[in-house]
Amino acid sequence: MWEHQRHAVLPAVSDPSRYQPQAIEANWQRAWQEHGLHDTPELEPGEQGFYALSMFPYPSGNLHMGHVRNYVITDVVARVQRLRGRKVLHPMGWDAFGLPAENAAIERGVDPGVWTDQNIASMRRQLDQLGLSIDWQREVATCHSDYYRWTQWLFLQFFEAGLAYRKEATVNWDPIDQTVLANEQVDGDGRSWRSGALVEKRKLRQWFLKITDYAQALLDDLDGLEGWPERVRTMQANWIGRSTGAELQFAVVNDDGTDTGEQITVFTTRPDTIFGATYVVLAPEHALVPSLTSAPQRLAVEAFCDLVSRQSEQDRTAEDKPKRGVPIGAQVRNPANGALMPIWIADYVLADYGTGAVMGVPAHDQRDFLFARQYELPVQQVIIPEGSDEHAFEGGAWTEAGVLIHSGRFDGLTTTKAKAAITAAAEAEGWGRERVQFRLRDWLISRQRYWGCPIPVINCDSCGAVPVPTEQLPVELPRDVAFTGKGASPLAQLESWVQVACPCCGKPARRETDTMDTFMCSSWYFLRYSDPTNNQLPFGRDAVDSWLPVDQYVGGIEHAILHLLYSRFFTKVLRDRQLLSCGEPFTKLLTQGMVQGVTYKNPHTGKYIPPSEVADADDPRDPVSGEPLETFFEKMSKSKYNGVDPAQVIDRYGADTARMFILFKAPPEKDLEWDDADVEGQFRFLQRIWRLVDTALERGLTLADGAGSAAAVRAALAVTGADNLAPADADLRRAVHTAIAAISEDLDGDYQFNTAVSELMKLSNAMAPLLADANPVFAAEALRTLVVLLAPFAPHLAEELWLKLGGRSGGDTLNTSSIHRQRWPEADATALVRDTVPLVIQIKGKVRGSLEVPADADKATLEQLALQSEIASKWLEGKAPSRVIVVPGKLVNLVP
Ligand SMILES: [Zn+2]
Repeated sequence: MWEHQRHAVLPAVSDPSRYQPQAIEANWQRAWQEHGLHDTPELEPGEQGFYALSMFPYPSGNLHMGHVRNYVITDVVARVQRLRGRKVLHPMGWDAFGLPAENAAIERGVDPGVWTDQNIASMRRQLDQLGLSIDWQREVATCHSDYYRWTQWLFLQFFEAGLAYRKEATVNWDPIDQTVLANEQVDGDGRSWRSGALVEKRKLRQWFLKITDYAQALLDDLDGLEGWPERVRTMQANWIGRSTGAELQFAVVNDDGTDTGEQITVFTTRPDTIFGATYVVLAPEHALVPSLTSAPQRLAVEAFCDLVSRQSEQDRTAEDKPKRGVPIGAQVRNPANGALMPIWIADYVLADYGTGAVMGVPAHDQRDFLFARQYELPVQQVIIPEGSDEHAFEGGAWTEAGVLIHSGRFDGLTTTKAKAAITAAAEAEGWGRERVQFRLRDWLISRQRYWGCPIPVINCDSCGAVPVPTEQLPVELPRDVAFTGKGASPLAQLESWVQVACPCCGKPARRETDTMDTFMCSSWYFLRYSDPTNNQLPFGRDAVDSWLPVDQYVGGIEHAILHLLYSRFFTKVLRDRQLLSCGEPFTKLLTQGMVQGVTYKNPHTGKYIPPSEVADADDPRDPVSGEPLETFFEKMSKSKYNGVDPAQVIDRYGADTARMFILFKAPPEKDLEWDDADVEGQFRFLQRIWRLVDTALERGLTLADGAGSAAAVRAALAVTGADNLAPADADLRRAVHTAIAAISEDLDGDYQFNTAVSELMKLSNAMAPLLADANPVFAAEALRTLVVLLAPFAPHLAEELWLKLGGRSGGDTLNTSSIHRQRWPEADATALVRDTVPLVIQIKGKVRGSLEVPADADKATLEQLALQSEIASKWLEGKAPSRVIVVPGKLVNLVP
């Protein structure tokens, strides 16, 4: 695909004075590795390091542009922090359990472990070509037993804390992958996030983690995450979904009006509307449904329950789907006004949300309104808009605030006051209480798959679920299994592995054959990097506390809820277990935008057309039918033929150009549109820098022996005086220090790498004409600064230019003398002061040119300078203007 492009092929590079990335990049990568340049430095006791982290990839075997963007952003952050003198941890690893390896085993008969390790090796080679400053000594792979041993150990911590439990649960069953999915893995259409299959409902005994115990803390602590995108915090808050309301008791009533003694508890966020309740709805799975259903209704109720059991949760709750239900032939008494109301079951009420029962208030809830209209249930208005009368309610439900009517002693209260008053009355009279409700539910972690971390539990008929003793960890995944891709986990079919003695009573027992959700493995990997070879614990307390929390985390927005919420949960639980100190794992989060490729689509057939089949990019047409094609940018994907292979870009232009393009093309959090011309533009920019340095070398400029360093510049300024510089020197220094100030600012707070690269381009453009005439001290200062500022972005080129310029003289090894061991420069405020400022000259309001004028010139002087200028003589042709408008510091407008 890369072969198909409109831009001219670059000339062959054989001239040593030309920039040839292929000739330098691999050498520097090897040298950095050999000299341990990216090794994580030891921290002094109590010292805090800087932790830069990319979300680790699934080892699919292929690096795509989305990966490249993610890792390059993190790499720049890590490199800048090193230049600023921080000790940096910048690790990488592999989220290596999961379905694709198992699918490969089923389809091609390869061992999932072997397949995964091959992919890791291949991706590692691709990553190395990018020049990332990763400490590979800290690499982890979640599928290796020296890692998953500790995932199991941590599971047992949750178990011991009462935060891991088993229960029979209705689960999302993926009929293609034959496995259970978490709610988060089912999309809005009720399809599996991975296989795309329509998810079914099944009952299975499953392991859960009690994330709901931390719902309030997970919500509260979002406020402190100021370094996170607002969007991600909002998504998490919505997912946790806290609502305040009331639990109200409705007594079940016999046909003769007497109480049966049974109660139905509903949860509502609108206790103020209780006088408007006209029916109660239970989830079809509610425990009371079988006993309360009347004989005449039994068949209808059973048929309905059967129907609902086959529906996905998304179908049941989707706003645009009609709601269905049946009465069960029983009734309750409204505790507020004594009215008798029928009990229904309906698909839109879910058993495990709230109490599995709601009161129907059709006048003030749109869903209830539609349901009541469909089944001809009564509608009783109890709230009117403030200052209105009771006829304001028409058509749909009135869901806004207002004033109560038909509500007995609560009439006239506002909805806000009525919520409190009715809840208080319910509490006093024993028919309800205030209640906080969360949308978040416990995290289902059981998977009926092979390629995952075994749950370290032994099931004994006498003792129940017994944890595997920690000294017996890891529970190794057996490697001699048969893959059919059907039915239960291959582990369940492996009797030699399953049968084991109970650690408690010694009787024959069976291993748990479920494996863990891979999100378990990725919920703590960032902790392991702090102490990756520890074989006594998942991580030592000192190590984890000196590196955590992660200072800058970079990854995709698709992890806004799943991975980021689970990792926060893990961190809080481990803090409460005294295993670490921080309560939040990631101080700053950057969610990088997508990489989009140019995409061709036939709007008539809906088919995507590979760019290689599009003859004329300016008039794209379907190669078969000749119909005009739509052209647009969309996230790169195989199915749309719009991907660009990172390896081919690197082969052609080098990693530094690929990095520069990705950083320059868009701010990191925005989507990026791939553009071949801009890639070439960045290559040419690096080539210009190369030539700039070559020309300087020809003139005898050097950075040897500290030339151009801050100390050398200070010494030179002491002699000439900072206010007394020649114009070329002053201009050069101004350009240099403007760039330092601007780029330093771009790298603080929100990373604006795109404008930082622009500033580098401005600096090199400003330097080119000034270097020849400048004092060699200031010329050296400019060269030194340019190369250091370039280093985080184009690390290979910067290292090569540093060597060519003699910058490494005096240092003994690469480890001490590398460009990447230098210090980030400080902007010199005195160099930024201008003696002159540009003054725009307008003729009759139109800009016709500009003048350099003294910065402190007064109005009269500016007018005089403008009238004397060539611009005035050209446009006024010798006549005096009728009017002159002067805006000091900005412009003079001459009106003829
Ligand atoms: Zn036992």
